Amino acid sequence: MGFEALDLTLDSAEETKAEARALDARLADASTLEILDEAVHRIFPGEIALVSSFGADSAVLLHLLSEVDRAVPVVFIDTGKLFGETRRHRDALVARLGLTDVRTVTPKAARLASTDPSGALWMSDKDLCCRIRKVEPLADAVEGFSAWITGRKRYQSATRARLPVVEADGTRIKVNPLAGWSRADLDAWRLANDLPEHPLVAEGYRSIGCMPCTDRVADGEDERAGRWRGTAKTECGIHLGLIGREADGSGI
Ligand code: SF4
Repeated sequence: MGFEALDLTLDSAEETKAEARALDARLADASTLEILDEAVHRIFPGEIALVSSFGADSAVLLHLLSEVDRAVPVVFIDTGKLFGETRRHRDALVARLGLTDVRTVTPKAARLASTDPSGALWMSDKDLCCRIRKVEPLADAVEGFSAWITGRKRYQSATRARLPVVEADGTRIKVNPLAGWSRADLDAWRLANDLPEHPLVAEGYRSIGCMPCTDRVADGEDERAGRWRGTAKTECGIHLGLIGREADGSGI
């Protein structure tokens, strides 16, 4: 990339940050349904997708989205290392909620063949494994969108405690409609709307990602304490501002 192109990218990123701050001020006190309706129909019509792991709490946000618009694209990254229960939960939720545009994306076969031919990269280099199995497929999947919706909540971990409702991610906007929801809010919404629970929650899993990197969580631990347990890693990279960077990345 030449200096002029780099300057343009940096200018765009600064403009996106300013746009995110203005949108956050506008939506910070709105209800979750209002945030979704504004984002989907007025601010980013036809330019926004929801990214879902179809994990422990995904049913709530997907249900809220279905109340607003069932045709919004939903991106699901199948890393090739997921629990079978997660794929079955995805299929059950899609049928129940009537979502019409769920896009399952997978890592590129050539990338896996060159970088993780044995499928054991997660044992030696988790950041690189997350990069090729999550960050890069997601970067490709959101390429045509100006914004995407996440299901992150502030209460989930210390690293998410200051999560805004709207934030910038490079030259793209991320909307976090559940930022202010509590564990009790999620449980109450799921029960009130009779939404299916991910089957592994009953077995002690509170945050569910890839099988090799997900552990059960004890009472009193952060819900994400079972992700990459025993390592310093807390995020896969898709929420670390790594989308769109060629030379960096790691993982949902
Ligand atoms: Fe690989 Fe683990 Fe990251 Fe999944 S969570 S992509 S298995 S390192």
